[in-house]
Amino acid sequence: MTAAGRITPPSQLLVDTLEIRRRTGARREFLATTELDDLEAGEFSVVDGRLEIDLVIEAVTEGVSATGRVSGSWVGPCRRCLEPISAPFDADVLEIFERNPTDGETWPIEDERIDLGPVVREAALLALPLAPLCRDDCAGPDPERFPAAVAADRPEHDESGAGEELPADPRWAALDALRFDD
Ligand SMILES: [Zn+2]
Repeated sequence: MTAAGRITPPSQLLVDTLEIRRRTGARREFLATTELDDLEAGEFSVVDGRLEIDLVIEAVTEGVSATGRVSGSWVGPCRRCLEPISAPFDADVLEIFERNPTDGETWPIEDERIDLGPVVREAALLALPLAPLCRDDCAGPDPERFPAAVAADRPEHDESGAGEELPADPRWAALDALRFDD
């Protein structure tokens, strides 16, 4: 934890770059813990929206760069058994800010300030997993009745929870469980 656990609100992720930009090569460290809303993609989210920011802001020819890391933890369902799982992540940041940014490539400098909020948000969202397993040999939601390896071999009764090809029912159940936990 940086700054003794103090939470920096998103509004304070705006950094004044006037001092830095007076001299190419000038740099400033930006260390903070913040909590952002809606830090989620699909069924995955950043735990508490909390991010540890560890960046260096540096004057470069075009404007300023922000390099370093954003870390936190994600939570989401195992793709096979749909149990919620969680793991830490650590995402690299290497971004350029300039007065006339190129859409999708660089970020704006506005009123001599840069906003690290969207940058750390994007880095965190890109770090969320696509289809993780709770463990490499996860056997699925109910391996006794529905072995993952024989998903085609459906039972007679209509409780289709077998394996990766029919994830709908247990998926909703896992989502409901997650919501109730909140
Ligand atoms: Zn699993």
